[in-house]
Amino acid sequence: MNINNIRANFPILSRQVHGKPLVYFDNGATTQKPKCVVDKIQEMYYSVNANVHRGVHFLSQAATDEHEASRRTVQEFIGAASANEIVFTRGTTEAINLISSSFCREFCKPGDEIIISAMEHHSNIVPWQLQESISGIKLRVLPITDEGEIVLEELEKLISSRTKLISITHISNVLGTINPIEKIIEIAHQQNIPVLIDAAQSVQHVPVNVQQLDCDFLVFSSHKIYGPTGMGVLYGKEKWLEKLPPYQGGGEMISSVSFEKTTFADLPFKFEAGTPDYVGSTALATALRYISEIGLDKIAEYEHDLLTYATDQLLTIDKLKIYGTAKNKSSVISFLVNGVHHYDMGVLLDTMGVAVRTGHHCAEPLMRRFGIEGTVRASFALYNTKEEVDILVNGIRRIVKMF
Ligand code: PMP
Repeated sequence: MNINNIRANFPILSRQVHGKPLVYFDNGATTQKPKCVVDKIQEMYYSVNANVHRGVHFLSQAATDEHEASRRTVQEFIGAASANEIVFTRGTTEAINLISSSFCREFCKPGDEIIISAMEHHSNIVPWQLQESISGIKLRVLPITDEGEIVLEELEKLISSRTKLISITHISNVLGTINPIEKIIEIAHQQNIPVLIDAAQSVQHVPVNVQQLDCDFLVFSSHKIYGPTGMGVLYGKEKWLEKLPPYQGGGEMISSVSFEKTTFADLPFKFEAGTPDYVGSTALATALRYISEIGLDKIAEYEHDLLTYATDQLLTIDKLKIYGTAKNKSSVISFLVNGVHHYDMGVLLDTMGVAVRTGHHCAEPLMRRFGIEGTVRASFALYNTKEEVDILVNGIRRIVKMF
């Protein structure tokens, strides 16, 4: 991996913030975009723009071809068996809302249970809580250790005859823990329970193949994988998507409409009501091709090296505690320095040009599990460097001295 060439692909990285070179360590929230992705958006609006699927004219056909080719790029990227299993959504959040709503409507009776874990993002908690009041389901929560690892032995105890689905994050956006999803899927499938994987923090860091994993659903957001905002992916095994009722109604998702009886379109369009974001899908596909060319294995290795270096350097700081010390970790570090509020740390690092995230990271139950209100989080991407880590560490040292 030639890091200088990679950095040159991301124009924003050469800008300054508060008169200092930008050090962008807020990649868990969103990644920066390579030039090819932004160029693709421009190309789509300048030369291809037309509404997809319904048009007979040249541009509509061209836009449709681009949009559907992007679906196949996503299919290949995650190793899905068919492009029909790829539903475009607005993001991870909408994808989980889609599944929770349609799945509970079709398969759950009051008292049925959905299992999530204690390290979930709010978007894999609240949609299920909404279903608690709509469908009468009950949420069960898989506990985690002080290191931030799932307690696997508890899973078999939590599973009951009422368990209808397990929905779990692949990688924690706070702790960086890479969960043993292969094992979880194996245990679940022994009892014929489907599994939804929240891959919002994983597809950009480690190779993911849905057929090898054998997961039933998998969701991710484009903006966290170098693609545009407002776009996301829901993968679902065809056998499940076929059975699920539509999530939203409108144009595009129908086969025929009359006031007496409306029938729905085939997969994946049944779940894509309204004009789809064909610009977003093509720009996402461009982002996926960009990182595939670099190679996810190489990215994973590079980021792991960065994680090890940053962890070692941060731990040289007195009174600094890292939250999330799982054996299998991705490039996210949450920490607190005793005596310095996480918010103050974030604001002061910002004056040095370093962008980190502070607060509860949309995981309030997880904060409560650790008895804290929030952390400082540095999350790395393929364009970050050890020199940038040094700037962070030196910055924290200066801040600690101020307090
Ligand atoms: N799940 C995880 C693990 C996340 O990190 C995030 C975003 N921080 C989401 C879900 C929600 O993603 P989005 O806001 O793009 O829908």
